[in-house]
Amino acid sequence: MMKVLGYAAKSAQVPLAPFEFTRRDPRPDDVVFEVLYCGVCHSDLHQARNDWGISLYPLVPGHEVIGRVTAVGDQVTGVKLGDIVGVGCMVDSCRQCQPCQQGLEQYCEQGNIQTYNGIDPHDSLPTYGGYSQTMVTTQDFVLKIPAGMDPSSAAPLLCAGITTWSPLRRWHIGKGSKVAVVGLGGLGHMALKLANALGADVTLFTRSASKEEDARQLGAHHVILSSSDAQMAEVAGTFDLIIDTVPYVHDINPYMSTLTLDGTLVFVGFLGDIDPMLNTVPLILGRRSVAGSCIGGIAETQEMLDFCGQHGITCDVEMIAIQDINQAYERMLKSDVKYRFVIDMASLHA
Ligand code: NAP
Ligand code: ZN
Repeated sequence: MMKVLGYAAKSAQVPLAPFEFTRRDPRPDDVVFEVLYCGVCHSDLHQARNDWGISLYPLVPGHEVIGRVTAVGDQVTGVKLGDIVGVGCMVDSCRQCQPCQQGLEQYCEQGNIQTYNGIDPHDSLPTYGGYSQTMVTTQDFVLKIPAGMDPSSAAPLLCAGITTWSPLRRWHIGKGSKVAVVGLGGLGHMALKLANALGADVTLFTRSASKEEDARQLGAHHVILSSSDAQMAEVAGTFDLIIDTVPYVHDINPYMSTLTLDGTLVFVGFLGDIDPMLNTVPLILGRRSVAGSCIGGIAETQEMLDFCGQHGITCDVEMIAIQDINQAYERMLKSDVKYRFVIDMASLHA
C-alpha cells in the first residue's frame, strides 16, 4: 500500500482539508500515475456536501483527472512510463452485463464503480478521486490524451466533455441540427464547443446576460435570456435537442415549446423530481420527449478525446491551487466560473 496525500471532505458540513490515505498495491492490469491536474465539477460540490444523500466520508473528490504514468503492471499494454493519461468518472464496472459489453459501462447493471465515493468490488475499499497526489487505476478505464493536447486544459473533457458529447452523439447531432444548451458553466461551455464543432446551429439559454459575449466565442450562434418571455417566444418550435445542464430544480416547461416536432430535452444536470410539474400538452402535440443521460462509456470518451485532438478543442479553465478549493466551490455556487476550475496538483506540496 502506498501513502498518498489528498484533500477530503470529512463531513457535509466542513470545508475540504488535507487528508492522508493509502492506495492499493498495483495489480497486474493497473496503471499508476502522478496526478498533474484535476478539474472541479459541480458534482464534486454536490457530493462533498451530500446533496444526493449517498456520500461516504472521508470523501476525496475529483473525476476529471490528468496524470503522468509512473508505473504499470505486467499485463498493461498500450500505456508506458511517462505517458499523459486521463481518468474520468468511473474506474471500473462488472464488464459482463449487456451495457458493459456494448461499451456503456456507465449504465452497468451492477452499477459502475465511481472514481470517488464508490466501493472497489475487488477489495471492498472506498475509491478516492483526483484531488490527490497519485492514482492507481485498471488500464481499461484509463484514457489516452492525444499527442499535442495541452494537459492543463484537457482535464474537464473527462467529465464535462463526455457528458455533453454523449447526448450529442446519441441524438445524431451534425450539420443542419439545431441544438440548445441550458446554463453556461463547465458542462455548458463544452456543449457549446462540441455542438459547434459537429456542425450544428447552436443556441445558449442563460440567466446571465453578462455571459453573452463569451458564449458566442465558445461556439453559440444565438443567445437567449431565459428570463425574457419575448426572447423565449422567438425560438418556439426550433430545437432538435436541448441539453439541460442546470444543477438545481428549475422549471423546464418554458423550454418544451422551443423544441421542434420530435425534439428532445435531455437532462444531464439536475437529479430529482421535476418541479413545477411538467405539462404534457407540448409533449403530446409535438411528439416531444424528456430524457436523461449519464456521462459516457470508455470507448465513447476516447472517441471524444480524439475528436477534440483533431479539432483543437480544449476547455477554458481557471487554474487554482488545491488550497483554494473551498473558495472555488463558493464561486461555483454563484455561477462565477469561466468556465471550469482546474487544480494544479503541484500545489499540494506547496
Ligand atoms: P456549473 O459549472 O456550476 O454550471 C451550471 C450552470 O447552470 C451555471 O453556470 C448557470 O448558468 C446555471 N445555473 C446554476 N444554477 C441555476 C439555477 N438555480 N437555475 C437555473 N440555472 C442555473 O456546473 P457543471 O459542473 O456544469 O455541472 C452541471 C450539473 O451537471 C451538476 O448538477 C452536475 O452534478 C451535473 N453533472 C451530471 C453529469 C451526468 O453524467 N449527467 C456529469 C457531470 C455533471 P447560467 O449562468 O448561464 O444560467
Ligand atoms: Zn463531473
